[in-house]
Amino acid sequence: MMDESLYLKELSKCVRCGTCKTFCPTYLNTHNEAMGARGRVAMLGELGQKHLDPTKSLAEKIFSCMLCGACKNLCPTGIDIPEVIYQGRTVLRDSFKRGRFLRRALKMSISRLDTLSPLYRIYHTLLHKPLYNAGLVRYLPNTSSKPFNKQAQVYKNMKKIGRVAIFAGCSVNYFYPHLGNALSNILLTKGYEVVVFKGESCCGAPLRSMGLEKETEVLAQKNIEHFNKVHAEAIVSLCPTCTMVIRDQYPVITGSTINNIMDINEFIAKSNIAPELELKPSVMTYHDPCHLSYGLGVRDTPRKILKSIKGVELVEMKHADECCGFAGSFNVHYSDMSETMGKQKIQNITDTSADTVVTSCPGCIMQMETIRRSKSAKFKIKHIVEVIDEAMHD
Ligand code: SF4
Ligand code: SF4
Repeated sequence: MMDESLYLKELSKCVRCGTCKTFCPTYLNTHNEAMGARGRVAMLGELGQKHLDPTKSLAEKIFSCMLCGACKNLCPTGIDIPEVIYQGRTVLRDSFKRGRFLRRALKMSISRLDTLSPLYRIYHTLLHKPLYNAGLVRYLPNTSSKPFNKQAQVYKNMKKIGRVAIFAGCSVNYFYPHLGNALSNILLTKGYEVVVFKGESCCGAPLRSMGLEKETEVLAQKNIEHFNKVHAEAIVSLCPTCTMVIRDQYPVITGSTINNIMDINEFIAKSNIAPELELKPSVMTYHDPCHLSYGLGVRDTPRKILKSIKGVELVEMKHADECCGFAGSFNVHYSDMSETMGKQKIQNITDTSADTVVTSCPGCIMQMETIRRSKSAKFKIKHIVEVIDEAMHD
């Protein structure tokens, strides 16, 4: 974290030009200055100078930021807006009353997901399904009975052209282990030894988004210590939020990071993994996850990968880089706005008439699957590793 004087200096650089709100989804949805990037920076500046009190209403505005990064790198005076918002949340977290439950739940559960996942499965079967069917709660997916991290081991390879470790992330570990398996299959087929590592902890993104900086640091230190011991030419992740937090935020939080973390799209392109693949004819469209496009700057690579597969016709949807509305805790506390954004995304996909939407983020998949249920749209939703795995093995 920046020290207090640096943080205040950073906020004081704002000249109120408004460039940062050009693509700010919460501003574009509400047309409310206090719900946009510029307003948040201004309010944090006033709070820092003690011209504003840390009220519930102020906390609401700072916690309604999606941390999507659409404002990052836009500021002409160089303010790292998401970073000052993270810092503002550590100051305001006790004033964000609605976040109390999630904050406590995350603190208690994040290191115990192996134990809690089977309990969640019982809740899902006994309570969630009936409540959802009665229209009383928003749909939540179930966790898998076979989490990906239960298969922790080193998968040897006779060819051994290299060694790659997987940073699966919680959503792949517990909700979508088949994505981890698809990635292992791809890497093994290409001749890599694959390390599925037991020492992985949550990357810390959910905790940091709730203003829990110290707790995030503990997880970050664990991951850095464990993963930097793994001898691998790359540590690849299927979740751009994990990759972005590890690459860009661990150095801010701990002064160090996992050295060779990489998004799967970057690894596939760099290692030339996907040439000469073929699929049955399919029309696909690609949705940009915010933390991949704004966070890691990866936009063209997934499109190039898809276009290189014979049989795939790639069509662009309108506003492919607009947020799907997931944004972690945002979809819990600001569910109406999250749903509005999700519905717009589903409409934009439907308008392309593509049979499949491809993305590179398990969180976006979760959001699109949830919203698609209410819109009864027919297209398939896939992570890019599923498409490549299918093209390699079907
Ligand atoms: S991170 Fe996203 S939601 Fe938050 S201020 Fe920036 S553009 Fe707006
Ligand atoms: S772009 Fe930078 S200077 Fe302009 S309003 Fe936003 S934070 Fe302030």
